[in-house]
Amino acid sequence: MLLTDDIGKIKNIGEQRRSRLNKMGVYTVLDMLEYFPRDYEDRSVITPVAQITPNSTFGFVARLADKPTLTIKGRLKLVRARVCDQTGQIDVVWFNQPYLKNSLQPGKDYWFFGKASEKYGLLQVESPEWEAYVPGGKSLSNGRIIPVYPLTQGLTQKVLRGVIKQTIDETTEEICDHLPEHIVRAQQLVDRRTAVRQIHFPQSDEAFFKARERLVFDELFLLQMRLLQLKGIIKKKQNALNIKNTDITPVTDALGFKLTQAQDRVLEDIKKDITSGYVMNRLVQGDVGSGKTAVAVAAAYLLISNGYQVALMAPTDVLASQHYDSIGRLFEKLGIKTVLLKSGMKKKEKDRALEDIRLGLAKMIIGTHALIQDSVEYKDLALAITDEQHRFGVEQRKTLESKGISPHVLVMTATPIPRTLGLILYGDLDISTIDSLPPGRQKIDTYAVNTSYHSRMYGFMEKLCAQGRQCYIICPMIEENEKNDLKAAVEYTQELKSVFKGLNVACLHGKMKADEKQSVMDGFYSGDIDILVSTTVIEVGVNVPNATVMVIENAERFGLSALHQLRGRVGRGSEKSYCILVSDSQNKLSKERLQTMCKTDSGFEISEKDLQLRGPGDFFGTRQHGLPEMKIANLYKDIPILKRVQQTAVECYKKDPMLILPENRLLKKKILDIFDKNEKNLGL
Ligand code: ADP
Ligand code: MG
Repeated sequence: MLLTDDIGKIKNIGEQRRSRLNKMGVYTVLDMLEYFPRDYEDRSVITPVAQITPNSTFGFVARLADKPTLTIKGRLKLVRARVCDQTGQIDVVWFNQPYLKNSLQPGKDYWFFGKASEKYGLLQVESPEWEAYVPGGKSLSNGRIIPVYPLTQGLTQKVLRGVIKQTIDETTEEICDHLPEHIVRAQQLVDRRTAVRQIHFPQSDEAFFKARERLVFDELFLLQMRLLQLKGIIKKKQNALNIKNTDITPVTDALGFKLTQAQDRVLEDIKKDITSGYVMNRLVQGDVGSGKTAVAVAAAYLLISNGYQVALMAPTDVLASQHYDSIGRLFEKLGIKTVLLKSGMKKKEKDRALEDIRLGLAKMIIGTHALIQDSVEYKDLALAITDEQHRFGVEQRKTLESKGISPHVLVMTATPIPRTLGLILYGDLDISTIDSLPPGRQKIDTYAVNTSYHSRMYGFMEKLCAQGRQCYIICPMIEENEKNDLKAAVEYTQELKSVFKGLNVACLHGKMKADEKQSVMDGFYSGDIDILVSTTVIEVGVNVPNATVMVIENAERFGLSALHQLRGRVGRGSEKSYCILVSDSQNKLSKERLQTMCKTDSGFEISEKDLQLRGPGDFFGTRQHGLPEMKIANLYKDIPILKRVQQTAVECYKKDPMLILPENRLLKKKILDIFDKNEKNLGL
């Protein structure tokens, strides 16, 4: 049997099982082998019957003493059998499986596995799994550590165990080591064949760990190797732009502040990229408020001053408009025309903008997803910037790039990730980090309180507003029911209007029309509105330095990264700022999140913690990043293995980038097998 064969070829897989397995994404023999257990159960201990005690689960081998009896009590059908071994006897019972009366035969030995309990002073094992015992024979489900698989309707653990065992036995010859032998040896890995067998049916804990280590290593190694290759290819993409002017002082002078050392350093990276003759693919990560916009603006200026166009894509209308206002104003001083493109614009306005873009009159183009629609034609797009990249899929980033002829790419994100993970998640990007905040920022005091603090909190806000400051109040978003959210935000605003009598309270939510949103935001920017009640539409990027209080209601509903983003809306000026997290939740994890917020203001620490609490799947949203789904590796827990992988992969790549050496023949084949079909998903 070949690994590429259809699972229909496996014994015991008929049409029905085949289609059920297909539903689980299992099509080929290889898929079947890589249908890894989600858990294990240790059934290696055979307990003497006399040692069975109530309220625990036991595996034992025992002989049926008598024919089972069937008792019917109303709707309950109870099958009971007495079984014994050399040490004693015990009752086993099953509910509503009357046919078992005839399936189990007196005088025969069986494996049982189930939970013991005491009923009316009588010890019994309830609904145990059972299987005929063959002396000296091996069982797949008993007397060993057994795999527990993810299930779909109509497939049982027993069936899967049998089918997978069958598959392993018939393919041992086929499973080969694609890693070069010197790596296997140096890393002290078990061979792949052993690993596959042991991951399904481990002989011991130790064997399991070695098997898993090997398979995780393989999975991460292949991915890392492919990313290195792709990065190598992308790096070589020539860029024929003509960059004569590299003086960006006009724009940095116009900014009105001195760039921090961190900002300068990142700009140097960007300058180097842009003048290298190759296409730039750079990710700039920096905590909220670290000043990523200024870096983007300076980079944009660099290309615009050489006659080219630059596009900046933001994830929300609010953020796009804000960028348009601040960047537009700045660029106007420098004689650069900026246009805004977003959904909900008047047709006339929009056509004008499109025309300006097409003719190249507009040099700086700012917008939302509208920037990547077919109707947008750029004259000479040379730099594509995406702000708050974690909100965009890789696909969208790529579409924007495709609007120019190999434009440079700059991606900005406030979701910091550990470096090791960055290499995987943004494998195709070079990374620069803005690792310090602009001077003069004060620590944001963060408090976690319950709803009984509301009136004190309102008093505090009133006092600050009287001093001229502004406040945000964030209402929770419950995704399943947006209507209720709106109601919550709108009604809460009404309530607050009567609390804050002399102040201007306004509401902002995602369902408002673009111009309504804009006028509320304008009111807040200008200081007209004192208190802004909002759903999370303002989560990313919004910059109103005069706002110094961030209240988050039902704070337990937010993940750590979102809380950190929200908190980042304050503390942007020189005034002392506060963040108040309101929650009545008693949930342990929620409390832990809120405590983390009170303890630290470092985005790096917070994202570490977030990863730890949520796991990488939820944190990164695999789909968003277009990463292939991991079959066995866990990007967070397996960082130690990932580190080894990265070192090894880089060495291997340096020695033989395109994998043409004989020792790498199988490796190359494997990479092509996996990634050819996946390349599109990877968006590379
Ligand atoms: P983020 O990195 O979250 O996108 P922004 O770019 O919005 O941060 O910048 C946050 C605030 O810091 C803005 O008000 C911006 O004008 C200000 N800022 C940025 N760089 C500096 C600097 N070097 N010195 C002083 N203020 C700065
Ligand atoms: Mg920003």
